[in-house]
Amino acid sequence: MIPSFYKTELYGVEFPGFPSNAGASSLALQFQLEQSQWFDSAKIINHQFDQIRLLVNYAYRTVPFYKKLFDEHNFLPESLQNPEDITNIPLLKRTELQENPERIISQEIPREHGHVFDVSTSGSTGRPVDVKRTVLMNQVWDGLILREHNWYQRDVTQEYATIKYAKKGEWEPPFGLIRQGWGSATQLIFDNGLSSYLNSSAPIDVQLDWLKHRNPAYLFIYPTNLFELAKRAIDRNIKIDNLKHIRTNGESLPDGLRDVCKRAFDVELYDIYGTLEVGFIAFQCPEQGHYHVQSENVYVEILDENDKPCKPGGIGRVVITSLHNFATPLIRYDIGDYASFGDPCECGRGLPVISKIYGRTRNVLTLPNGDKYWPTFGYREYSKIADIKQFQIIQKTLTKLHVRLVCEQMTSDQEDSLREVIRDAMRYDFEIDITYHDNLERGPSDKFEEFKSELL
Ligand SMILES: [Zn+2]
Repeated sequence: MIPSFYKTELYGVEFPGFPSNAGASSLALQFQLEQSQWFDSAKIINHQFDQIRLLVNYAYRTVPFYKKLFDEHNFLPESLQNPEDITNIPLLKRTELQENPERIISQEIPREHGHVFDVSTSGSTGRPVDVKRTVLMNQVWDGLILREHNWYQRDVTQEYATIKYAKKGEWEPPFGLIRQGWGSATQLIFDNGLSSYLNSSAPIDVQLDWLKHRNPAYLFIYPTNLFELAKRAIDRNIKIDNLKHIRTNGESLPDGLRDVCKRAFDVELYDIYGTLEVGFIAFQCPEQGHYHVQSENVYVEILDENDKPCKPGGIGRVVITSLHNFATPLIRYDIGDYASFGDPCECGRGLPVISKIYGRTRNVLTLPNGDKYWPTFGYREYSKIADIKQFQIIQKTLTKLHVRLVCEQMTSDQEDSLREVIRDAMRYDFEIDITYHDNLERGPSDKFEEFKSELL
């Protein structure tokens, strides 16, 4: 991070900075996070194991759901003796959390963990997931936000813009919302720059004009929204002079997005992997392209179909233990994503490496022979055929796809070329319907899926 200097809240002291108590404890946590990222992997897992053991014992004592689940599986919390034993803890399926949110709440949430908040993931990922979280968790997440700013050397005195979903009437163009400070993680301890917000329901041209006007150093935006924005910036030859890099979260990155982003704005994109229920799971390594697990917040496993750990490179289900949630403990929680681990990172950080995040089960294409995979469908290919502003492919049956497009009506030759490109990318001779739309709607959390299957 490039701060002007630490903020001081104490009368009579300008140097060195004495932030408020909350700011000071945030800095104290940061001091630890600076060190723990360099621990070797065994040391990290040992510390996580100590935390998991505490959490599991607590959940067994105070959460009826876990008492029943562990008893049914004859699992005894005291049988946890070393990190290898973690695989003996029964898994928590996403559907169980969706169906039993109130039974997974602790009957004795520790008062020391502070105020309790309700969090509900939006319906765009299917049924919502309701969990509770505490101030303690927010403190850990703030610590990770600071780490992330630090990794990418953000200048906290600059403006930070956000384009994302907000309720109708909020953050509306032409001005959006402007605030002093980026949020508690930074403004408690630094003289922090402005943050600006725009509702992502604004048309792409309006978004681009707003961004040009704000001219921020950093931009936070959902990947598919960024894709449209970057393509429009290229078409209109608009540059954002002050922009240093872009931060994305919330969807798997569409193919070609990094390239288009580089061409449009000449900046890098840093993606964050996380969910509302468990917070930050992984950030991109500042030196390599892959993701580092945020091991101080979550313990991540990647499991094959027999629930055995995958080797590096093997694709499996992402299973998360949220280390500090004593309100709705999420222990070995199958979040419904697929990913693969990579080899240890050359940067020297011991935080585990996730080499690729594939997305959700419902984004898997199924071929008539039973093969399944996450299709990618490159911008380069389809942009050669027509000026397609947005597209979505939906698998209706094993042999039929529906393609929804935002573009001018194509000629039948163009449509046939597009079908060919899709068949090639999808590795099967699908029957393909094409329909045209003014725009393709986003879910309430802004998540947009370029491919989804209705076969589940
Ligand atoms: Zn690294």
